[in-house]
Amino acid sequence: MSHNITRVLIPPKRIIVITAPSGAGKSSIVRKLLRQNHTLAFSVSCTTREKRVGEEHGKDYYFVSAEDFKRKLASNEFVEHEEVYPGKFYGTLKSEIEKIWAERKVAVFDIDVKGAEALKKQFGQDALTIFIQPPSKEALINRLKNRGSEDEKSLKARIKRSEEELGYANRFDKIVLNHDFDTAYMRVKNHITNFLAPQTEHVH
Ligand code: 5GP
Repeated sequence: MSHNITRVLIPPKRIIVITAPSGAGKSSIVRKLLRQNHTLAFSVSCTTREKRVGEEHGKDYYFVSAEDFKRKLASNEFVEHEEVYPGKFYGTLKSEIEKIWAERKVAVFDIDVKGAEALKKQFGQDALTIFIQPPSKEALINRLKNRGSEDEKSLKARIKRSEEELGYANRFDKIVLNHDFDTAYMRVKNHITNFLAPQTEHVH
């Protein structure tokens, strides 16, 4: 038997956080990542906002009432939570991350900039945070408008918030400009590959 063993160390408990201003195109990047890499699993958040057409409970979000959300908050079930828009709460459940890790998968988040910062603080080196930068403020506003899922009031709130969120870019590990989807996707994918690359150590 050899006394010179190469051990592959893959820390199992890791997370990848994709963040951006609302409307920067992060959800499409996240969806493609999940389709193409089955060691990644989406961390389904809890929210009190209304379900949009085509969304599914347990897949896109856990849609809960404000009372339920408050109860979960009181019993310390969230790793982080934010009132992303007035009266609309979003939160990451501890149980969701534990479930993903128990399957030996890497948790992937589509989350706002404040939530992303909170996760980086808690998970440190075990978290990779990637900020998706829209090509311009105008492009961001146009994307929000074209989505057409908002009424006038919530559209205005989203535009205001997105503009503020642009200023958060340099708080994250990586910034990827989303000028062209395929290029942005490849850059995100490469950052993830490097982050997840197995580290080796030699044991004598
Ligand atoms: P939407 O309502 O468009 O699905 O999401 C609005 C914003 O909330 C997006 O920027 C989304 O990434 C963010 N978000 C989704 N889930 C969470 C969460 O659990 N925590 C935080 N802080 N933000 C979230």
